[in-house]
Amino acid sequence: MREKRGLYRPNPELEGGALANGRHYIGSMSKSPIRDFHAHLYYDPGEVDHARAVAAALTERWPLPVGHFHLRPVGPHPRGSVQITVPVERFGDVAQWLAINRGGLTVFAHASTGDDLADHTNHVIWFGPSEPLSLGMFS
Ligand SMILES: [Zn+2]
Repeated sequence: MREKRGLYRPNPELEGGALANGRHYIGSMSKSPIRDFHAHLYYDPGEVDHARAVAAALTERWPLPVGHFHLRPVGPHPRGSVQITVPVERFGDVAQWLAINRGGLTVFAHASTGDDLADHTNHVIWFGPSEPLSLGMFS
């Protein structure tokens, strides 16, 4: 029988702030490289009112900056989208909320570190199926 807490046992090599091979774990940094997170709600043009309702429910819970509701692809985003900017310290709450309240919308979330290509490739969290982004602008 699997020990219940086994999955969450602290890894002493990580707790010390360095991996075994000498590379430093991000937790050892005194300041996170993440400025904030973006949560981009994706929708088709006919779903924009639904997306507005999801965004309104989220920002009723936590007052967060909501961008323009684009009906067409903009930037790297393949469909209509709206950007919600989430402070680092609030992202855990927002991620949990989105996990069960996204109303069927796909949400593309990513860290913002200033490295746009990495932020849109490696630093991503999808709620719902992932979609291809237009990354050419970042190279
Ligand atoms: Zn973004």
